[in-house]
Order: sequence, then structure tokens, then C-alpha cells
Amino acid sequence: MFWTRELIARNAPIRRRVTPDRSPVQDRAVAAYLGLAIGDALGATVEFMTPNEIRGQYGIHQTIIGGGWLRLKPGQVTDDTTMSLALGDAILGCGRVDALAAAHAFDDWMRAKPVDIGNTVRRNLISFRKTGNPEAPASEHDAGNGAIMRALPVALACYGQPENQTRIVQRAQAHVTHHNVLSDVAGEALTLMIQDFLRGEEADAVERQRAASLVAAHPAFAYDRKRCDNPGGYVVDTLQAVFQGFFATENFEDCLIDVVNRGGDADTTGAIAGMLAGARYGLDGIPARWLNALDGYTRMRCERQAEALLSYIPLQSQSVLGG
Ligand code: MN
Ligand code: MN
Repeated sequence: MFWTRELIARNAPIRRRVTPDRSPVQDRAVAAYLGLAIGDALGATVEFMTPNEIRGQYGIHQTIIGGGWLRLKPGQVTDDTTMSLALGDAILGCGRVDALAAAHAFDDWMRAKPVDIGNTVRRNLISFRKTGNPEAPASEHDAGNGAIMRALPVALACYGQPENQTRIVQRAQAHVTHHNVLSDVAGEALTLMIQDFLRGEEADAVERQRAASLVAAHPAFAYDRKRCDNPGGYVVDTLQAVFQGFFATENFEDCLIDVVNRGGDADTTGAIAGMLAGARYGLDGIPARWLNALDGYTRMRCERQAEALLSYIPLQSQSVLGG
């Protein structure tokens, strides 16, 4: 059989933008990390805008152009991505998820003057400097989304380990800055959902198993009522907006466009929707124009860290409770 050029083109595998020897799980893990960064970079442009303001200025916001109240460069990311990278480095550096190592990593991150930082994160890191205690005091006011936006490294590092281990570890990293039951249950649901998608589970099953049980235990998270526009930093608003956009769409691009055009804390809803959508749809689902717009150094850091976290084997059992 002669292979004409046309025949070759037709039979050529879909051109991959990625290292072709990744396993499906690695592919989805890398896509989750890039999704986090892309959602952050895309959403930051419209952070704190209302849906109406976004419509007036951009029609539908769907291009990574930087700007926003932080005056970012196109493709630049914010605390959602850089805190995640700091946490991932701390996990890899000490061979386990250690609350004290995470606290030091966040403190170093804050000293390096990040482009943005949440109030709860700042307040509790400043008290960590004074007390040396990596667990913030429990507070019913600390129900912000600042601990769940950096849940991805835990989901990757604990992949394949018992579910309860993931819960304990997510809680430990979260409590460095957010010691609050709504933040805890949201973070646990999110990490377990990411792991479900890494395993290749279907969205319907994940929604039934994880999102529904979160809502059953904590009805505040119900997301089937009013459309959540202009979500604030409250972790309940955040997950409502993310779940509404994520479960109502069927590809990475539509999901992120839906979520960030709700405005409000759009870089963080974008980041969380991006990690879920990346894990669900894999690298082939991420539009090339977004991948190419992402800051190159950030892209490399996300790819490498995703692979390293996934293949990392904990030194001991994931001791987080002292020791
Ligand atoms: Mn941010
Ligand atoms: Mn934000």
C-alpha cells in the first residue's frame, strides 16, 4: 500500500503537545496542574468584576491577557498557583506532607512578596511567625477558599493511598492558614474528586459520590438552586460556582469560560475549576492557545511538579501529627 500524503495525514495520530510517554494518570495529573494555572491566569483578569461588568468590557472573557486589578502580565499567575507550588515543593523536600514544613514554605512564599495574598492567609502566617505553631486556631470566620485553592499537590502526593490519609493530610495543610470545618469538608471533597478523575472515573459518578455527599452532610453547599454569580471568597460560594460550571459543561474550555465569567473571585474559581477539568479531560482537552499563553516558567514548574508528586513515595507513613 502506498501512503499518499493525504493518507498519512489522515492516519497520523492526533498531534500531541506533550511528552508522549506519559501514562494516562500522569497525563491527567499534569493537565490538572496546568488547568489550575490556566484558570488562575484567565480568571485574574476579571477578579472582583461582576458578570455585567465583564460582559460590558469583554463580551465573553476567554483570552489570557493579564491585566485585572493586579495589572498582571499576560499568562502570569497569582497566589492560587504559587502557593500550590510552594506546598508541592515542601512535600517533595521533606518526603511527606508535614504541616510545619508547609508553614515554613508559605512563610517564605509570603516574604517573597507575592502579587496577591488573602487576608486569612496573611493573618495566620504572621501568627505562625510568632508562635511557631503550624496549626491556626479554629475559627468560624476563616471559611475562605484560601486553603482549598492549594489542594492539588495533596491530591497528587496521596494518589493511590487510603482515602482517609488524603483527608488527614489535606486538613493538616489547610490548618496552617484556615482552621474551619467548611474549609475542611470542601478541601477533602475537592482532593478526593481530583483523585477520582485521575483514576478515570466518570463525572456522573463523581458528582453522585462526592458532591452529593458533601451537600448531604453540609446543605450549605447545595448548588442546584440559584445560579451563583459573583462568588466571593467564602468557600461555599466558591464550590457552588465551580460545581455549577463544571458539571454543566462537557469540555475544559467551556467549563473555564463558564466559571470565570461569573466574576467575583474569578482567579480562584478558575483555578479550582481548572484543576478539576484538567484531571477530568486530560492534556488533549486544554486549548493550545491557553497553554501557549501561560507563562513559560510557570508551565514548566507545574508540569515537573505534577510528575514528581505523582511518583513520589512517602518516606514514612504520611505523618502530619508532629513527629
Ligand atoms: Mn489569586
Ligand atoms: Mn482570588
